[in-house]
Amino acid sequence: MIIIDGSEGEGGGQVVRNACALSLVTGEPFRITNVRGRREKPGLMRQHVTAIEAACAIGGAECAGLTVGSSEITFTPGRVRQGDYHFAVGTAGSTGLVLQTVLMPLLLADAPSRLVLEGGTHNMLAPPFDFIAKTFLPIVNRMGPTVEARLVRHGFYPRGGGRIEVDITPAPLRRIECLDRGAPIGETATALFAALPFEIADRMLKRTRKSLPDWLDRSFAVRELPVDQGPGVILLLEAAFEHVTEVVSGFGRLGVAAERIAATTAGRLAGYVESGAFAGPYLADQLLLPFALAGGGSFTTVKPSEHSRTAAAIIERFTGRRCSFDVRHGERNLVTI
Ligand code: ATP
Repeated sequence: MIIIDGSEGEGGGQVVRNACALSLVTGEPFRITNVRGRREKPGLMRQHVTAIEAACAIGGAECAGLTVGSSEITFTPGRVRQGDYHFAVGTAGSTGLVLQTVLMPLLLADAPSRLVLEGGTHNMLAPPFDFIAKTFLPIVNRMGPTVEARLVRHGFYPRGGGRIEVDITPAPLRRIECLDRGAPIGETATALFAALPFEIADRMLKRTRKSLPDWLDRSFAVRELPVDQGPGVILLLEAAFEHVTEVVSGFGRLGVAAERIAATTAGRLAGYVESGAFAGPYLADQLLLPFALAGGGSFTTVKPSEHSRTAAAIIERFTGRRCSFDVRHGERNLVTI
C-alpha cells in the first residue's frame, strides 16, 4: 500500500487524480492522508468525489472514505474495463478534471471506450475544453492512441450544465521527444460569452489587441453562445505552431474588470511565445503522466510549476520512474522522464 501525505508539494486535487490513474494502471493500492491539505478548505470537494467515483467505475476499484469533506481515502484498484460511461459532476465541477482521472487507464484498456461527461467545461483552475482538445490531446494522439473529444454544450461556473463526449481508442503509448515547437502557423483570440452583455467580451478583445499588437485583425473574434449556456465569459488565446498549440485562457469573474483579465491572459501568452518552450506550465504537469506511462520521453517547458514537481513525485512513488527538471536550453527547461 502506497501512503501519500496529501499536504505535500502542491497539496491539492491533482494529487488525488494522479494517484487514482496511476493506481489503476499499476494495480497498486494507495492511501492519502491530509487530502488537499494545502487548500483553504481541505478535504474532498464534490468534483474530486466524482473523479474518484469515475475511477472506481472504470477500474472495478473500491474507495473507503469517499465523501465530500473527507480527509483520508484508501483506494483499492480492480481491473480496468472499456465501456460506455456517463459521469455527471453534480455542480459546475470540471469535466476536464474527471477526464484527467480516467483517460490514461482507458487508453491502456484492451478495447475502445466512450465517455459522456457533464458539468463545467470552462472552469477556473482547470483545463478548459479548448485546451484539452487543441493542446493536450494532439500530443497524446501522437503517442499512439486515438482520442477524439467533442464539446456538445458549454458549462460555466457556477451553473455548469455543460457536456463533452470523448471517444477513446487505446494503443500502447510510444515515447516521444517534444523539444521544439516548430514554426508559428497562426493565432486566434476568441471572447466567448453567454447571457452577459456583448460589451464585456468586446472589451476583453480590445484590451487583448493592445497587448498583442502584432496579431492580425482577423485573428480576433467575439462569439455569443445560446443564453441557456450562461452566464459566463472566457477569453481563449491560441498560438499554433507546427508541433504544438498553446491555449491560454482568462476566465471572467464578478468584480474583476474585463480589461484586467485580458491584460493578464495576453501577458501569459506572450511569455509563453517568448520562452521558445514546447509546453506551457499546464501542459507540462499534464504530460508527465502519459510520458511516464510510455516508459519515458522528454519535453521543453517554461519554469516548472509546483504542480509539475508534485506530479513527478507521485509518479515516482507508483512507477519508480524519476523526472528530471534541467535548465539547459537557454530559457527553456528540459524535462526528462
Ligand atoms: P484544488 O481545488 O485542490 O486546487 P483541483 O482539483 O482544482 O484542486 P489542482 O490540483 O489545482 O486541482 O489541479 C488543476 C489541474 O488543472 C492541473 O493539472 C492544471 O494543469 C490544470 N489547469 C488549471 N488551469 C488550467 C488552464 N487555464 N489551462 C489548462 N489547464 C489548467
